[in-house]
Amino acid sequence: MSKILKEEKAIVVFSGGQDSTTCLFWALEQFKEVVLVTFDYGQRHIKEIECAKAIANELGLEHHILDMALLNQLAPNSLTRSDIEVDEAIPDGKTAPNSLVEGRNMLFLTFAAVLAKGKDIRHIVTGVCETDFSGYPDCRDVFIKSLNVTLNLSMDYSYVIHTPLMWLTKAQTWELADKLGKLDYIRKNTLTCYNGVQGDGCGHCPACTLRRRGLEQYLKLLTPNS
Ligand code: ZN
Repeated sequence: MSKILKEEKAIVVFSGGQDSTTCLFWALEQFKEVVLVTFDYGQRHIKEIECAKAIANELGLEHHILDMALLNQLAPNSLTRSDIEVDEAIPDGKTAPNSLVEGRNMLFLTFAAVLAKGKDIRHIVTGVCETDFSGYPDCRDVFIKSLNVTLNLSMDYSYVIHTPLMWLTKAQTWELADKLGKLDYIRKNTLTCYNGVQGDGCGHCPACTLRRRGLEQYLKLLTPNS
């Protein structure tokens, strides 16, 4: 499979966070060429976009930043509006947190697909994950498969949506980063924190808690005696 992919180009939906940066390094191993797309939807922290830009620049990759401000207009929530507090509760997979932007992944993947087709790219890579219980229905495998079919029909094109993290736990995502030789890079240069603190983050928002738990779990697996 990899041999075929090596001949082709891919577009990575890239936020500058841990998951999408891991996907980016995964894609660099799988494909001949990688292009990045970042969506600017008035995130609480413009730093997220700066982080994405810095990584793209450092790696010398083509990087498109698409203005999705309308998302903020449609679905004001804690990630897009500074006057709404981020839920500090850890997601339980049953109730969606107030950081949910309805339909966000569907919209992002659809816009990524339109951009990709214009560049003769049929492979789309996204860091969505079903195992992190984030409560986002458009992160689920069944949805991605359904959207893949819909995109192919809507544009008469053979897209393949790749979700390398779909069935991984946070610890396994760190393990993948490590296997790609990028654990330290991702730890230092990415931004996952809802409070906009790069690297290990603020330490108390849900994103930081999940990221830290996963990292600790993975590092403990490496040193079973401690
Ligand atoms: Zn945080």
